[in-house]
Amino acid sequence: MSKPVIVIHGGAGAITRHAMSAEQERRYHLALAGVVESGQAILAAGGSALDAVTEAVRQLEECPLFNAGKGAVFTHQGSHELDASIMDGHTRDAGAVCGVAHIRNPILAARAVLEHSPHVMFTGAGAEAFAASRGLERVEPDFFSTEERHAQLRRAQAADAGAILDHDAPAAGDPLDADRKLGTVGAVACDSAGHLAAATSTGGMTNKQAGRVGDSPIIGAGCYADDATAAVSCTGSGEVFIRAVAAYDVGALMAYGGLPLADAAQRVIFEKITALGGSGGLIAVDTEGNVALPFNSEGMYRGIGYVGGPVETRIYR
Ligand code: ASP
Repeated sequence: MSKPVIVIHGGAGAITRHAMSAEQERRYHLALAGVVESGQAILAAGGSALDAVTEAVRQLEECPLFNAGKGAVFTHQGSHELDASIMDGHTRDAGAVCGVAHIRNPILAARAVLEHSPHVMFTGAGAEAFAASRGLERVEPDFFSTEERHAQLRRAQAADAGAILDHDAPAAGDPLDADRKLGTVGAVACDSAGHLAAATSTGGMTNKQAGRVGDSPIIGAGCYADDATAAVSCTGSGEVFIRAVAAYDVGALMAYGGLPLADAAQRVIFEKITALGGSGGLIAVDTEGNVALPFNSEGMYRGIGYVGGPVETRIYR
């Protein structure tokens, strides 16, 4: 018996309680709760897990609090390069785009690739042309910019910090500690038919070199779904999640090792990612509607909603 459920994340990192005001926390909880409610409504109406995760991530992209779509971080060169991916656990069809700067909602482009292309992943100009051919909204790159992210880039460059996770940026001396806000977004869901889906979207890492691609758009690394095991969306040090093939590994531990979802998810984060020096977390769901949300960082913005149940949102451990 499946329990339909949606789980979302808005990034994992070194967020600490004292770095955020009560008002800021409230804004995050409200934003997360609204997205979970939309996902619950889709699932309650008999909608598919694929539709629920698409809409959840689209809404998170529209919210400037998170590092995806509007509010995306800047590259070292001062541009935006957005990545997104989506996978349907029922058919194991997948779609992804990376390095795009003109598609308002990269997750809708990834979904279009899944549905309307024999390919799985498009990059840059080709991704944008494909999205345009599907009638998706095009924007100028400055649509994604916010003053806060620009200040974050300037601080990272002044500190010569290299490419940094949203949350690992050098301290701002700002009581709100803008650099410690997390960002990459994702959703996983189980629908009433027991089908699974996962979606992930990001602006990447602040001060990353132009052309750098992280785990988020890579099927198996930052996103994976298979009805036989689990749907998984990751956030954290992208290079490590790629090397660990993190999202796929959760399902592999279940399929080949017979581990239950929670144990598989814990092992990937606390053994594999940690051993490689990575920081971050993941959200996962299996076809019974069990969920797991492990992270080895201080916090991870996250929300859960079972159909007919309460909405739970959390930030810290
Ligand atoms: N995983 C993302 C990347 O490496 C960053 C993040 O999760 O915040 O692009």
